[in-house]
Amino acid sequence: MVDAPIRVRIAPSPTGDPHVGTAYIALINYLFAQQRGGQFILRIEDTDRTRFVESSEQMIFDALHWLGLHWQEGPDVGGPYGPYRQSERTGIYRQATDELLSRGTAYKCFCTPARLDEMRRAQIAAKLPPRYDRHCRSLTPQEVQQAEAAGTPYTVRMAVPLEGATTFRDELRGDITFDHNNVDDQVLMKSDGFPTYHLANVVDDHHMKISDVIRAEEWISSTPKHVLLYQAFGWQAPRFWHMPLLRNTDKSKISKRKNPVSLIYYRQAGFLPQALINFLGLMGGGMPADLEKFSLEEMAANFQFERISLGGPVFDLEKLKWLNGLYLRALSPAQFYSTIREGVFGEDYLRQIAPLVQERIETLTQFLDLADFFFRDDIMPAEEVFLPKKKTLPETLKLAGELLGVLEAADWNHPALEKALRDLATTQNWSAKEVFMLVRAIVTGKTASPPLLESMVVFGKARTLDRIRRFLDFQKKRPAKN
Ligand code: GLU
Repeated sequence: MVDAPIRVRIAPSPTGDPHVGTAYIALINYLFAQQRGGQFILRIEDTDRTRFVESSEQMIFDALHWLGLHWQEGPDVGGPYGPYRQSERTGIYRQATDELLSRGTAYKCFCTPARLDEMRRAQIAAKLPPRYDRHCRSLTPQEVQQAEAAGTPYTVRMAVPLEGATTFRDELRGDITFDHNNVDDQVLMKSDGFPTYHLANVVDDHHMKISDVIRAEEWISSTPKHVLLYQAFGWQAPRFWHMPLLRNTDKSKISKRKNPVSLIYYRQAGFLPQALINFLGLMGGGMPADLEKFSLEEMAANFQFERISLGGPVFDLEKLKWLNGLYLRALSPAQFYSTIREGVFGEDYLRQIAPLVQERIETLTQFLDLADFFFRDDIMPAEEVFLPKKKTLPETLKLAGELLGVLEAADWNHPALEKALRDLATTQNWSAKEVFMLVRAIVTGKTASPPLLESMVVFGKARTLDRIRRFLDFQKKRPAKN
C-alpha cells in the first residue's frame, strides 16, 4: 500500500443541496492529490434511495466546479474504475456479499422488522446500547435453507469477531482501538438487495484502488467496521485521515439551524468562489498561520497536512464576509461591474422576476420598489409587519421555527410550497392567511408583495431558509419590548 499510487476520493451522497462540509473535504482531498501527484476521484454514494434527491448530483458537480475543484474520474467524466455511481454497481456488491457469505464472515439475517423493533425497545428500556442480538448468527444451514425456501426476506450482516479489538491508524490522530464487543453486526446488504453505506464504501474504495481515505471525523466510529470488512475480504485497507468537523461559532457541529450550509446559498448570496475556497483553506490550520488570503494554487503549494490541528475549525460567517470583501475590492472596475451584472442582476434571474411584477407596475422605476427583496440582503420586518393581529409574539416565533423545518423538507415548486404551508397552518391551528402573511413578511419584508409562492420559487430555497433563520436569530437577540 505504501508504494501504491496516490488515489483519493470524495463520496458525497445526493440527498439535497451540496454542503459546505463536502466542499471542505473535497478541497483537502484535492490538495492531497495535487501535492503528491495523485488522482482525485468523485464517487456518488446513492444507495440510500429513501434520501435520494434527483437534482442533487448535478448541483454537487456544479458547486464544486464553481469552486475550482475538478476531478480526474467521476460519473460525469468517466474513468477506468467506473461506474462511479453506486446505484450502477449493485452487481459488484452482490458478488462481494456472496464472497463474504462463502467465507463465513457474513451471515443471512431473517429477523422481521417487528422483532428488531421489539429487541431495540427492550434494550433501550434496560439502558443497553441498541445492537443486534445475533439471533440469526447461530442458525443451522438447514434453518437458513428453510427460511430461504419459504421466501422469507433477509438482510446480510457482518459477523464481527466475538472477542478482541480492532486497532487502526488515523494519520492525524494515531492509533484508535475499538473493542469488538462495542461493534454491531452491521447490516451489509438490505433486504431490497441494496448495499448499506459500509459495504459499498469499502468495496468501492478497494476496487477503485483508493490509497487514502480522507473524510470527516464523524466517520471514525464506522472505521473499525470498515477495517474488519477489509480483513473479512482479505484486502489491504487504505490509510485513514479523519478531518476535524467544521463548527458553528458556539463550537457545535456546523448545522443549518445556525449557518447557511448549502453551497448554493453562498453562490446566490454574492460570495465569490475564490473567497469561499480561500476561507475553507483557512479551516483546520493546514496553511501557514501568517497567510490569510491565498488562491487554490497557493494552497496546493503551502498546505501542510502535518500542521492540521484537531480542534474543530470555526466556520465564522463574519470572517468569510470580510474575506469576500477583500476579494471584491481587489477586482478591477470592469471585473467588478461584470461580477455585479452576473451575480446580482443575472439575465436568468431578471427574466424570472420580470413577469412577477409586470401586473403591478405603473412606471419602470417602480421595479425596485416592488422587487427589492430579490436583491437585498438585509430584509428584517418590523413587528407591525410580521405579527398577525390575533397572535402573540411567542406564538409567532414558534410558528416561524416550525416553518424553517417545513420549508427545509419541501420540494421547491409552487404546489409543494402551497401544500407545505397549508399543512403547517392546519397542524398549528393558524389560518392559512396568517401563515402566508408571516412568510411574506419574513421573505419580502412587507405586507404586500408580488405573488408570494412564485417569488419564493425564484428567490430559491437556500436564500429563503437563510432569511427565516436570520429572522429567528434577530428576534431571539432583540430586547423584549415593554
Ligand atoms: N457517503 C459518505 C458521505 O456522504 C461518504 C463518507 C466517506 O467518505 O466514507 O459523506
